[in-house]
Amino acid sequence: MSFTKQSVCKLCRREGVKLYLKGSRCETAKCAINKRNFQPGQHSWTRGRLSEYGLGLREKQKTKRFYGVLERQFRRYFDIANRMAGNTGANLMTLLERRLDSAVCLAGLALSRKHARQLIAHGHIILNGRRCTAASRLLRVGDRLTVHGSEGSQKIGKESLEMRKGRSLPQWLAFDESKLEGAVIALPTREDVQFEVQEQLIVELMSK
Ligand code: SF4
Repeated sequence: MSFTKQSVCKLCRREGVKLYLKGSRCETAKCAINKRNFQPGQHSWTRGRLSEYGLGLREKQKTKRFYGVLERQFRRYFDIANRMAGNTGANLMTLLERRLDSAVCLAGLALSRKHARQLIAHGHIILNGRRCTAASRLLRVGDRLTVHGSEGSQKIGKESLEMRKGRSLPQWLAFDESKLEGAVIALPTREDVQFEVQEQLIVELMSK
């Protein structure tokens, strides 16, 4: 999924939520949501209230954009979440959170999930001792991730960590900044997902 430079902040403003699509800029006062948190477009104020279907669709779109997942893949996650025990919405969110690109971003090795996908595709990320180029890989407890030992990869990892200073690490992930090494110490729970979404609306929409 790729967006033009100008369009990404509009997506956040349209959804009314930070989607963190522009890396380190998203954490600063320059973020468009901090500056202009209203719908983009000349006639945005004329748009009416959304129907139940529209609300569900909006939550789904915003989640897909946040995690960089396309419709088919999203449907696959939903089907898996539906078959799992427990709450389908919570399962869906924790599955998305367990993706390798998400973990790389949360660890601070990338500026955004999109950046994480680029690093993974270019072979900068090592999972359990081997290069892994599948950003959608679902991590399990005990998985270890690090940055490739090459000078270029190490530099990218350190620069990202420097730019993401002050980020909070989720409880399910351990990360040693001095070694650029991380490990999955538990499966994420719904409480670990720091993205504002009403996943129940997505479940209702996709269960019809
Ligand atoms: Fe733009 Fe802010 Fe959205 Fe980042 S979080 S893409 S800076 S509006």
